Amino acid sequence: MAVILLAGLGAFAHAIISRFRWLAVAKPEVRWDEIPSRIERVVENVFGQKKLLQRGWRGAMHVMFFYGFIVLQTVMLQVVGEGLFGFDFKLPFVGGTAGLGLMQEVFSAIVLVAIGMATWQRYIKKNPHVKAHSEFDALVVLCGISGLIITYFITNGMLINMRLAGTEVASLPPIDALPISGLAAKALAVFSPGIQSFFGHASFWLHAAFFVSMLIWIPRGKHFHLISGPMNVFFNGNATHKSGAALKKTEIDLENMADDAVFGASTLDQFSWKSLFDSYACTECGRCQDQCPAYNTGKALTPKGLQVEFRKELERAGPLLIQGKKDEEGVLRPFIENVFSEEFLWSCTTCGACVQECPVDIEHIDTIVEMRRYQVMMASKFPKEATAIFKNLERKGNPWGVSDSRVDWAKGLNIPVLGQDGEAKDFEVLYWVGCAGSFDDAAKKTARALVDVLRAAKVSFATIGKSETCTGDPARRLGNEMLFQTLAQQNVDTLNSLGVTKILSHCPHCFNTLANEYPQFGGNFTVVHHSEFIAELLRTGRLKLLPKAEGTITYHDSCYLGRHNGIYEAPRETIAAATGLDLVEMPRNKEKGFCCGAGGGRMWLEEHAGKRVNIERTEEALGTGAREIAAACPFCATMLTDGVKDKNKEEDVKVVDIAQIVARSIDHHAMKP
Ligand code: SF4
Ligand code: SF4
Repeated sequence: MAVILLAGLGAFAHAIISRFRWLAVAKPEVRWDEIPSRIERVVENVFGQKKLLQRGWRGAMHVMFFYGFIVLQTVMLQVVGEGLFGFDFKLPFVGGTAGLGLMQEVFSAIVLVAIGMATWQRYIKKNPHVKAHSEFDALVVLCGISGLIITYFITNGMLINMRLAGTEVASLPPIDALPISGLAAKALAVFSPGIQSFFGHASFWLHAAFFVSMLIWIPRGKHFHLISGPMNVFFNGNATHKSGAALKKTEIDLENMADDAVFGASTLDQFSWKSLFDSYACTECGRCQDQCPAYNTGKALTPKGLQVEFRKELERAGPLLIQGKKDEEGVLRPFIENVFSEEFLWSCTTCGACVQECPVDIEHIDTIVEMRRYQVMMASKFPKEATAIFKNLERKGNPWGVSDSRVDWAKGLNIPVLGQDGEAKDFEVLYWVGCAGSFDDAAKKTARALVDVLRAAKVSFATIGKSETCTGDPARRLGNEMLFQTLAQQNVDTLNSLGVTKILSHCPHCFNTLANEYPQFGGNFTVVHHSEFIAELLRTGRLKLLPKAEGTITYHDSCYLGRHNGIYEAPRETIAAATGLDLVEMPRNKEKGFCCGAGGGRMWLEEHAGKRVNIERTEEALGTGAREIAAACPFCATMLTDGVKDKNKEEDVKVVDIAQIVARSIDHHAMKP
């Protein structure tokens, strides 16, 4: 036992230490600040298994594995002790007790059932959702754990029969606490004591062999997640960037830039260690790709594949890196073209479904955006449509490239402009109109409707007129961090110089950038989305409505409002108040909402492969039979309107922003002074 244990532990330690040493090639990043909130996440998501419990039978199965695996560790410790010191060895405090014995029996049985379910799904039903990238690895581990449990029962069966024959076995719990081992004992009892002893001892040593094999195997395959998964939850960026989808800031100092400075990442050494560690933690459960709009509409992108390929690349290059061969040709190779296609990279809408679903808190979007940053800022290789967007943002401050008409949407509305002619010094909120509200015909109607609502509720507000420029969201998500930072700094300087503290936005992309990313540039504002602002006006009685419905209505959750910022109820409350109707929900709603296809700068890119994402979502919306599709984002509204037109349904179904729904229901009579 001592020899095989040392060999197993040595191989285990070697595999783990090597994998940590491979990370040394990556860029540093601090992920051990705010320890209490990190521990809180571990308690919630690792021990509480919060995310997994939301996933029906698959989640329940994993929870069984998780707790079963923890309890099985006590069985293994017991076996090691018995191998070293004989069958009288007892674990301190709990060894030989009925409580531990019963727990070991129950959890072993549960894990065996879970393995049976997994085998059924994987090999008999051939469920594509549980297909692992590394099938052989999965098979080895399923066999290894089954072997551990079956040999445990047989060994216990022998010990029970020894006790019944009058030989005391101190480590064995009371027989009544071992119902399943009792069945094994009965099965063994048909043999002579000599044969029973042979089976029992063979089983004991097989158990030890399975245990050591697992020690050797687990850190070398996807089951390394048993160790790295909980650590990844601890290191998750959301512990420190709690709200919203704030992308990491790249430090860009053009004046003091080193000759070999690299922006973004292309090879293993250019990513942060956390991006590489994510791949160790991946369980290959496939929850991310089940929800991914790109994967589900036939694009090359798979968020699970992203992690699997990163791990494979580390397994390939890692041993060479620690031999000091970093600079040899082919050791570090660009991911794009060698591992992932351009289509893979640019298909991501940054919707965040993968990040939200992942049980081990992997941060896919950061890795994807880092690669986009490299492609844009270092390799100058990006979709040709993005060239026009970057030019338009650079020269005109909006993605459409329209000149000098930013304030035309407000003609005749007499909206005060902050900083202009001494106007609008005292106001409750600054209305950030956004590029869509300023230049897109449909979104202009939303902006004007919102103005009607604000006026009806006697909210004093102002805009910053022509001083507003794009927040930079599309530039940042398309990888042009340099352009984003220029736009962001310009806006932050303008807002700070005007003393703005509270901002209202009807665009979730502007909202997210202003609220969650501008603090990186010295802009600390209270930002509120119009859905929440209107809901509050209704709650406080400042706004009164006469519910008016134009037929049944469904609501599409914007990813940047819902998933990235947790705002699901305010738009629903507002729609209910304005229409007096219950929403007809789409099958995929709230946390499970399906992207419209516009995020991540994809609003302006062509979709060459598979089905268009907006068509997939529009079909789902039309499937509800609703006469109106409500949105709370101008980009979602555009994508869904295009989808409705594509389906020749524009006569029957309208796409409307919640501000328009509210504006048409204002009870002007009740609101007169
Ligand atoms: S962010 Fe959305 S589109 Fe991008 S990989 Fe994740 S699920 Fe897919
Ligand atoms: S990235 Fe997360 S959700 Fe996706 S397969 Fe890996 S563990 Fe599962």
